[in-house]
Order: sequence, then C-alpha cells, then structure tokens
Amino acid sequence: MQILDGLAVAAHIKEQIKTEVATVKNKGGKTPHLAAILVGNNPASEAYVGNKVRTCSELGFGSTLLRFGTEMTEIELLHEVKKLNENKDIDGILVQLPLPKHISETAIINAIHPNKDVDGFHPISQGKMLLGQDTFLPATPYGIMLMLAHYNIDITGKHCVVIGRSNIVGSPMSVLMAQNTNPGNATVTLTHSRTKDLKAMTLQADIIVAAIGNPKFLTADMVKDGVIIIDVGINRIEDATRKSGYRLVGDVDFENVAPKCSFITPVPKGVGPMTICGLMKNTLKASQIAR
Ligand code: NAD
Repeated sequence: MQILDGLAVAAHIKEQIKTEVATVKNKGGKTPHLAAILVGNNPASEAYVGNKVRTCSELGFGSTLLRFGTEMTEIELLHEVKKLNENKDIDGILVQLPLPKHISETAIINAIHPNKDVDGFHPISQGKMLLGQDTFLPATPYGIMLMLAHYNIDITGKHCVVIGRSNIVGSPMSVLMAQNTNPGNATVTLTHSRTKDLKAMTLQADIIVAAIGNPKFLTADMVKDGVIIIDVGINRIEDATRKSGYRLVGDVDFENVAPKCSFITPVPKGVGPMTICGLMKNTLKASQIAR
C-alpha cells in the first residue's frame, strides 16, 4: 500500500508555479491576482479561504480578500462580482461556498466572468470541460487528475466508481476520468444517494473516488484488494484529545481500508492540498488571458 502524499505533490507543483511566475514577472509580465469573497464566518470556509490567500503570497501571486457579513444581499454580492469582473488587475474570482441561504449560489457563479472563473464552476467552464475543450477545470477534480499524473497511475480501461454527483466534485470527476486523455480513459460508474446496492458497485471498482461528506462511510467490506482510493471528504468529528475539540476525517474508514489498497489518499494532506494547486494553476492561466 502506498500513500498518495498530496502535501508532497502539491509542494512540487507549487515550486513549478513559483518559478513560472518569477520568470513572467522578470520579463515585466502580469503578476497573477486572485480575489476571494467570503460571506459570513463559517469556520471551515474561513480556514479554506485563509489557506488559498496564504498560498497566493507563497507563490508570488497578488491576492485580495473581501469579507462581508451574512446580512449581505444577493444584489450587493452581484455588484461586488461585477466590480471584480471589470477590474483589470484581478485575474481570478473565487466566491467561497456555501453562501448564506438567501443568496443564490447559481446566480453568483453565473455572474462571474468566464475568463476569471478559476474555480471552474461557471456553466461555460463546465460545458467546455464536458466537450473536452481547453478551460478552467473545477479545482478539486483538476487536483486529483494532477495527482494521478504525478504518480503515473494508469487508469486506462480501469473501472472507476465515483461516489457523489455534486457539480463541483463527483460529476466533473466522472467526466474527466472517462475522457480520452492521459490520465483518463477509465470506465466510470457515477453513484449517488439513490444508487441501489452501492456495495455491489464498489466491490467491482479498481478505483474509488469518495465525495460524499459522510465520515468513514466507505468501509473495508465494500472494497476489493488492490483498489486505488481517492478520499475527497473533509468531515469534522469530535475529538476531546485535540485542543480544537475536533479532527478531520475523510469519507473512507482509512484505518481498515488502507491495508487493502494499492494506493490511497489520506485526510488531511491528500486531496485538499491538490485542490489548492488546481486553483493556483487556474489563476496563473487566467492571468495569461489577454484582455
Ligand atoms: P455534496 O453534498 O454537494 O454532494 C454529496 C454527494 O454525495 C451527493 O451527490 C449525494 O448524492 C452523495 N451521497 C450522499 N449520501 C450518499 C450515500 N449514502 N450513498 C451514495 N452517495 C451519497 O458534497 P460535495 O460538495 O461534493 O463534497 C463532498 C465532500 O467532499 C464533503 O465532505 C466536502 O467537504 C468535501 N470536499 C473536499 C474538497 C477537498 O479539497 N478535499 C473539495 C470539495 C469538497
């Protein structure tokens, strides 16, 4: 069993990005600049945004963090997005989800200019991805594909079972793994909460991508020997031994599943750091679009 070390792969990719940005800057080119919008004070969102902003400075990117209270209206948020769309210095716009219930996430995502859609959630980005055209890929599936490529994991012809069909993880993951690319060409089964007999599916899987949001959901009896596991879940569970009172676990019962795997991502330090890499690569790409 080999651990897929997201932290190490991310460090490697970040070094490459850092070098590229320094070269661009030395030639008088544009410094990539990410704008992040955070509405409210959800602790997990605070942590994610903080991480993204810190990574920007680590890589030599500019960043702007706009924070607003939960009383912000949808119209006010649309106005902020419009200002960022028009600001020539800003290359990428990220609106941290979830948003308060009274704001439509769809309306906000649709308002982001597709050339600045570094999260890859806009319908134009998703449509192009589906057609295999060059675009911003959603950061988490993009990061997972980068990790598979880094470890030279050949998924051609393999049976991949994706658990979860969200627009930001499960669905795009199923599309990317099935595409005629490298890595790609997997045979994909997309499963979700209405799937009958999920265990029968996962037992057939050569690769499982778990993106559910349910701690330790995937158990050892649900997987075959030699399986490759990508655990996307990030779940906080109570842990009195920690100062914070909680710890993070994935959607996979790591302790019992790992011994059966050929490769497995841990949580934390697996998919999470790779997601940030996907976002940073998208921001660099956005900064290179002529406007
Ligand atoms: P979501 O809530 O939008 O989607 C969850 C999916 O799981 C749904 O499609 C649902 O059908 C499926 N599901 C629920 N119960 C199921 C069951 N019993 N059997 C089969 N499928 C079931 O969640 P999401 O945004 O896709 O996120 C999933 C998890 O990944 C969360 O824990 C989230 O925090 C985490 N996440 C991690 C990263 C990262 O960078 N590591 C990025 C995004 C999301």
